Amino acid sequence: MPAEFDLIERYFQPLSHIGTTPLVGIGDDGAVLASEPGQDWVVVTDTLIEGVHFPVDTRPEAIAWKALAVNLSDLAAMGATPVAFSLALTLPDNKNHQAWLARFALGLTRLARRFQIPLIGGDTTRHHTLVLTVTAHGQVPAGQALRRSGAAIDDLLAVTGVIGDGGLGLASKSGQLPGRRAMSAELKLNRPMPRVSFGSRILGLASAAIDVSDGFLADLMHLTQASRLGAEIQCESLPFSKAVKARFDGTDIDWLTPLTAGDDYELIVAFPAQKLAAMQQASVATQTPFQVIGKLVAGEQVVLNKDEKEWKRFGPTDVSAGYQHFH
Ligand code: ADP
Ligand code: MG
Repeated sequence: MPAEFDLIERYFQPLSHIGTTPLVGIGDDGAVLASEPGQDWVVVTDTLIEGVHFPVDTRPEAIAWKALAVNLSDLAAMGATPVAFSLALTLPDNKNHQAWLARFALGLTRLARRFQIPLIGGDTTRHHTLVLTVTAHGQVPAGQALRRSGAAIDDLLAVTGVIGDGGLGLASKSGQLPGRRAMSAELKLNRPMPRVSFGSRILGLASAAIDVSDGFLADLMHLTQASRLGAEIQCESLPFSKAVKARFDGTDIDWLTPLTAGDDYELIVAFPAQKLAAMQQASVATQTPFQVIGKLVAGEQVVLNKDEKEWKRFGPTDVSAGYQHFH
């Protein structure tokens, strides 16, 4: 069982050399980051608890990847470019050994390298449950951060990637899915790729954005409520993977499952209709699949249309729209 100091030096110090070195990094009482003129800081934080936010048997590489990825997804939704991150780690004794820590550090290194961001500090404590809190820092041109609240009436709504694979990945853990499909969904659950380049590319085009973590419907309603509007969604336009479609049998339940499952880490964006071509260019330039799914309307309800007819309607007090958590 390595002592705290050795553990930090051995497994976490190497991550401080990824990308641009901070003015002061791991080893002092705090990290010091240089400010760049004309840029605002965007700071996000998210906690993952073993058994709550990921299954107990999740591989250490995947736990680390996910802890950082969910934070980078929040930065992407703000249009921010990641700069650095810190890690508060609560480690149970059964994981405080070389095999687990090395694999955990590897997962963290892989994603940090993708975005060239150093680990600049953190805290390490011991307790009987694994808990990880990552704080990520990003930059955005001054005054341009994307908000949930900026959407206007008649703005179009679009979503990146596909919806429902993360939830399917979780279901497939219990062996409900066949071979290859289970693997692609599990990949989405365990190694989500935050839409960072798309998020920063749509600055000045999008009027509002949010990332999908609690579930498509719940997060869409966070955007519409913050913007004090409602939305109309065409179900036929919703992007689903083959694996998710294979589970549809036409019942209402099967349709709502991918829309409420969570763990997608895609972006829902609103933008004025005249920016559609520029948004599509952003999608091509960043190789980010992008699908228009509806628009903002007056009111406070989210209406799902199927075959040009209203199919379902959700209001602000509906608790069925998403994964309700308070932990
Ligand atoms: P302090 O007692 O001042 O809080 P610590 O002993 O907790 O200092 O941490 C020593 C140094 O190691 C600090 O620079 C801190 O940011 C860093 N550190 C501690 N835990 C981690 C971690 N899990 N990941 C990265 N850096 C860490
Ligand atoms: Mg400390």
